[in-house]
Amino acid sequence: MTFSIENILRSNIKMLAPYSCARDEYKGEDATFLDANENPYDTGYNRYPDPLQKAVKKRLSSIKGVSSDCILLGNGSDEIIDIIIRSVCEPAKDNIVSFVPGYAMYDVSAHINDVQVRQISLTNVFQPDWDALKKVADPRTKVIFICSPNNPVGTAVPLEKIEKICATSPNLVVVDEAYVDFSKEKSAVSLLEKYPNLIVLQTLSKAWGMAGLRLGICFASREIISVFNKVKPPYNISIETQRLALEILEKQDLFCQRRDEVIAQREALIPLLEETGLFTHVYPSDANFILVRTPQCRQLYNFLVENEVVVRLRDIPPLITGGIRITVGTPEQNELLLSLLETYKKQA
Ligand SMILES: *Cc1c(COP(=O)(O)O)cnc(C)c1O
Repeated sequence: MTFSIENILRSNIKMLAPYSCARDEYKGEDATFLDANENPYDTGYNRYPDPLQKAVKKRLSSIKGVSSDCILLGNGSDEIIDIIIRSVCEPAKDNIVSFVPGYAMYDVSAHINDVQVRQISLTNVFQPDWDALKKVADPRTKVIFICSPNNPVGTAVPLEKIEKICATSPNLVVVDEAYVDFSKEKSAVSLLEKYPNLIVLQTLSKAWGMAGLRLGICFASREIISVFNKVKPPYNISIETQRLALEILEKQDLFCQRRDEVIAQREALIPLLEETGLFTHVYPSDANFILVRTPQCRQLYNFLVENEVVVRLRDIPPLITGGIRITVGTPEQNELLLSLLETYKKQA
């Protein structure tokens, strides 16, 4: 049976008559707009923004090689995660599957929607466990969330594994690629044509440096995107966010330069962290952070905070007991971290 989003939508969403906003009806640009109860005096923001963010999508379409009508933008990926769960999961009945350690927002968003979460441990090489997935998923499983590269570990999932999960899952498979720009592994976007149940999430928050703007990207089939367009709040991306995103997306050279610098810093930092002798594990990374482990994770964390360097405690037994996730900074910030680690070692 071929996958169709229609078959797994919640019945209320299937029947939803979407809110039709004023700007959906009239497509022209220059007119006298007396349709939306806006203020007629120009402030730069007196008009509602484009609900479909056509200019930003056009730019993203050319950067990512995905057609504009296969793209949905959210107020951060977090909004998109919520839209996915809300569209297909019947509260108190359906469930999602997520992997631990992993990104906590899938579980939080499911719980907010009264949707059960079935957690599966990653394997000891931090990959999704396919056999466990087969055992845990049932006919009420609507979405499987895979984070690749994984947060907080930094490991990417090979595309063949993602293909296998897409090919054998009757429901949605969401691959969250927030860190894909830092990864050796290719984006699952290349699988979209082949697997109609695949959704790929990316974001402008990490490599593009726009966390403060809140702009998440969802790539999926036209069919899925048109459903999500009905579910999303009509004006979810502000005029200013759209304008600034376009401006920054034009600067692709700067993007590449900074991304490459972060990757170079990451690769330089890993052996230096190992050399401190403070860590039982320093993991390789396909992202812009490095996971380390030490039995003294709490003391070390507190010491760094006292010295105004904030890292993230990710002490998640059993796989990453004593984990600390360190975001790769500028060369100066990384130097400061390393020198504090030396100080800590001397006083410990
Ligand atoms: C940072 C991050 C995101 C990005 O979320 P935004 O809401 O787009 O800022 C998404 N997924 C993962 C796994 C992340 O670590």
